[in-house]
Amino acid sequence: MPITTVNPATGAPLARYDTHDDDRVEHLLARAHVATRAWGRTPLERRVAVLHTVAGRLRADRDRLARLITEEMGKPLAEARAELEKSAATCDFYAERAAGMLGDEPVDVPEADAWVAYEPMGLVLAVMPWNFPFWQVMRFAVPSVVAGNGVFLKHSPNVTGCALEIERLFRAAGLPEGVLTTVLLAEPRVPEVTARLIADDRIAAVTLTGSTGAGAAVAAAAGRAVKKSVLELGGSDAFVVLADADVEAAAATAVRARFLNAGQSCVCAKRFVVEEPVADRFTAAFVAGVRALVVGDPTDSRTDVGPMARADLRDGLDRQVAESVAAGARVLTGGGPLPGAGFFYRPTVLADAGPGVAAFDEETFGPVATLTVAADEEHAVRLANASPYGLGLSVWTGDRKRGAALARRVTTGAAFVNAMVVSDPRLPFGGTRRSGYGRELAAVGLREFVNVRTYWAA
Ligand code: NAP
Repeated sequence: MPITTVNPATGAPLARYDTHDDDRVEHLLARAHVATRAWGRTPLERRVAVLHTVAGRLRADRDRLARLITEEMGKPLAEARAELEKSAATCDFYAERAAGMLGDEPVDVPEADAWVAYEPMGLVLAVMPWNFPFWQVMRFAVPSVVAGNGVFLKHSPNVTGCALEIERLFRAAGLPEGVLTTVLLAEPRVPEVTARLIADDRIAAVTLTGSTGAGAAVAAAAGRAVKKSVLELGGSDAFVVLADADVEAAAATAVRARFLNAGQSCVCAKRFVVEEPVADRFTAAFVAGVRALVVGDPTDSRTDVGPMARADLRDGLDRQVAESVAAGARVLTGGGPLPGAGFFYRPTVLADAGPGVAAFDEETFGPVATLTVAADEEHAVRLANASPYGLGLSVWTGDRKRGAALARRVTTGAAFVNAMVVSDPRLPFGGTRRSGYGRELAAVGLREFVNVRTYWAA
C-alpha cells in the first residue's frame, strides 16, 4: 500500500510515496548495520561537526521546512518555525556538551585504575509520531548520533515528507549513508514489521514516542528480545490553580498550555483543577481567552489554532466530548467540529468534568479542556493523581515552596510551578506509569542508549 499524505487544512492530497517492501527493508537494515558499526568508531569531533552543520542547515532552510510541517500536519507556521529552531538549538546543546557527557569518568578505587566509559550501543529503531514531526525525531536522534549510534526511523505516515527531509538533512551535513535511515511502512504491516525488526540482532534497542497501546506492543517485542526500550507515551497533565495564585496569569498561560499545536501535544495541560475560592474567576478568564483564539488557515499569521492532523483523530475527539456531555459535563465554549473543508475542531472547554467523565479519565489529543473544582488542596492533589498517566504537572500558587511541596505528592515525570510544562534540552523529559519510562534530553537522555562500561586495569 502506498502512502498518500493529506493537507489537514483542506483535506486535499499532497503527495504519494511507495512504501518499502520486505526486500527493501532488509537492504536498508543491512546497510544501516554496517554504517552504524563504522560510525561508532568515528572520532567524536567528526560526530560533533555533523551536529553543527545540521543546526546551520535547519536554520538556513527554516521557512521551506516549516511550510512542509504545516502542510502535512496543520500547525500554524510560527509554531513550525519554533519547532525547527528548538531542533537546531538541541544540536547546539549536544555539540557543545557531548565531550563532557561521553568522556571517561575515573572512579577512585585503591586496587586499580578504574573508570566508566560511555560507548555506542549500535542501531536503534525509533518509532515516532506526527505531532512535532521534526522535534520528536531530533530530540532522540541528535544525542544518539553524537553518541555513535545509528537511527532506523519509522515515522508516522502522514508526515512522510518530513521523515525524508530529516534523512536528507543529516546526509547533507556529512552523516554517512545508512547511519540515519527512514523506513517507509504503513498499516497493516507496521506491528508485524516493527516486531520483526526488534527481534533482529542488527537492531540493538528501540524507542517509541506515541500512544500507550503502541508503546505496549513495542515494549512486549523488546521484552521478548531482551532489548532496551524507552517509551514516551501519552499524557493527561493536570494544571492545578490554588486559591493564592495569580489567577489572571494562570488563565492566560492555561490557554497556551492547552491549545498549542491544536491541543495535540503529550504535555499539553488537559485537566484544569481549580480551588473553589478562585474557580469562577479562573473559569471566566480562561473561557474568554479560549473564545478569543483565532481558528483557521495555519499559513495565515493571525491564526492561533490550525486543524487537527487527521479526520479520524477529530472524530475520536468528538466522540470523547459527546460521551463526556452524556456523563454530565457542561460545554462552556466550543463542543464540536467546524463545518467545511479540513479537520478543524472548535476550541472547547468542559465544566463539571471530573472522574467518570471520558475527557477527564482518558487522554484528549486535541483542543478540549476539562475544568474541575477542588474543595481544597487535598482534593486538588487527589484529582491531579486521578489519572493513569504521569507525564507533567503544572501548579499555580503565590508560594513556590508550597507548589513544589504539592508537586511531590503527584507522580509525574516533570513538575512546573507557575509555568507551563515544556520540554527543554537542558532538562530530562519523560513519564511515569502509563506515560512510559526512560528519559530523553539532558545527559540522562543521551546515556539511555549507550553501553555504560566499567573498566578495571590492575
Ligand atoms: P500512535 O498511533 O501510537 O503512533 C505513533 C507511532 O507508533 C506511529 O509511527 C505509528 O505508526 C506507530 N505504531 C502504532 N501502533 C504500533 C504498533 N502496534 N507497533 C509498532 N508501531 C506502532 O500515536 P499518534 O496518534 O501518532 O500520536 C499521538 C499519541 O502519542 C498520543 O497518545 C500522545 O500523547 C503520544 N505522544 C507522546 C509524546 C511523549 O513524548 N510522551 C510525544 C508526542 C506524542 P502508524 O501510524 O503507521 O501505525
